[in-house]
Amino acid sequence: MTGELSAMPDIDPASLFVTRTAKPKVPPPAKALVFGHTFTDHMLAIPWSQSTGWQAPQIRPYGPLHLEPSSTVLHYAQTLFEGMKAYRDKTGKVTLFRPDMNMKRMNKSAARIALPTFDGDALLDCIKTLIRLDAHWIPQEVGHSLYIRPTLIGTQKAIGVNPPNEALLFVICSPVGPYYPTGFKPVSLMATTEYVRAAPGGTGGYKLGANYAPGVVPQKEAAKLGYSQNLWLQGPEHYLTEVGTMNLFVVLRKNDGGVELVTPPLDDVILPGVTRDSVLALARDHASGKQPIAGMTGKLEVSERPITMKEVKEKAEAGNLLEVFGTGTAAIICPVNRIGYMGKDINVPAGQSGIGDLAKAFLQEIQGRQMGTIPSEWSVIVSE
Ligand SMILES: *Cc1c(COP(=O)(O)O)cnc(C)c1O
Repeated sequence: MTGELSAMPDIDPASLFVTRTAKPKVPPPAKALVFGHTFTDHMLAIPWSQSTGWQAPQIRPYGPLHLEPSSTVLHYAQTLFEGMKAYRDKTGKVTLFRPDMNMKRMNKSAARIALPTFDGDALLDCIKTLIRLDAHWIPQEVGHSLYIRPTLIGTQKAIGVNPPNEALLFVICSPVGPYYPTGFKPVSLMATTEYVRAAPGGTGGYKLGANYAPGVVPQKEAAKLGYSQNLWLQGPEHYLTEVGTMNLFVVLRKNDGGVELVTPPLDDVILPGVTRDSVLALARDHASGKQPIAGMTGKLEVSERPITMKEVKEKAEAGNLLEVFGTGTAAIICPVNRIGYMGKDINVPAGQSGIGDLAKAFLQEIQGRQMGTIPSEWSVIVSE
């Protein structure tokens, strides 16, 4: 942020004003929820302009935005988003999972496309007020949660590629059911060699709207061939990067009988996932003996290193490929059962029966922290 901008007002939770809906809706039964299709009664909106800085945050009834057709977001993809969840634990307490990481990442995304940055703690305060107001929308049923979608768009009313002189930050909330209502469902991946999700020097490491529309056609092509997601590769070496819109983990058996947990290192083609970071932290605390995970092998090596399709194929042929899984806020852990690569399928043993031992252990450890059964500083209280 420049000195000039930082002198401007930041987001101020004390000036938040609330306009309650006159027509509260009845939340649908938990069983009827389809991911991302139902929204709560209220939304948060915080306008920004270059001349005023961040204006007073408003909570108002959920509803359409008024945008001029010239708004820069509609032409140049001046948009970025976050995805986080609020949980209702067994005692009725509402919590968020590591929301500070979402606020930091949102600011990094904003800076990357010249949208205004902000005080993440202040935005989080406003989001908590929104969640408290719509807390009755969080389903009581086990495994359900409230998906929270903060978004920031450039709204300058003029055609031309520039840092916008106006922007709008808004937050909407959607009650969601469990990702696996009927048991674990492993996904199949098509290792995609024709398209890339992200290029070196590009924007794949930021949660920008511009990164997602181009993935739809490759996804459709993978689906036509019978695979549910793309496995995104990088370079002539075919480095593995991400799965659909999730980070990627591979579990390998080592020659000494130990197990290696591999994920590609954070660079400009990898999105720094909160779930990825959580799996790595849990795995490292287990491997070092600081906080062992019951039932998990003691001989665990945790590697953030590049891994190629050649290595995955060779390890699979030697019987040393154990598990592949994706990580992200929506599913937490998503097991993989096979990977189509250059016309042949690589079978992932753990995926044949559902979910592998490591994937399952990480899922339970993370879910326990989200639902309050495992006390953790990752869990942030919204209301008691
Ligand atoms: C959001 C996202 C992830 C997962 O991030 P989480 O913070 O764990 O939800 C991974 N890859 C891509 C491309 C994403 O957009």
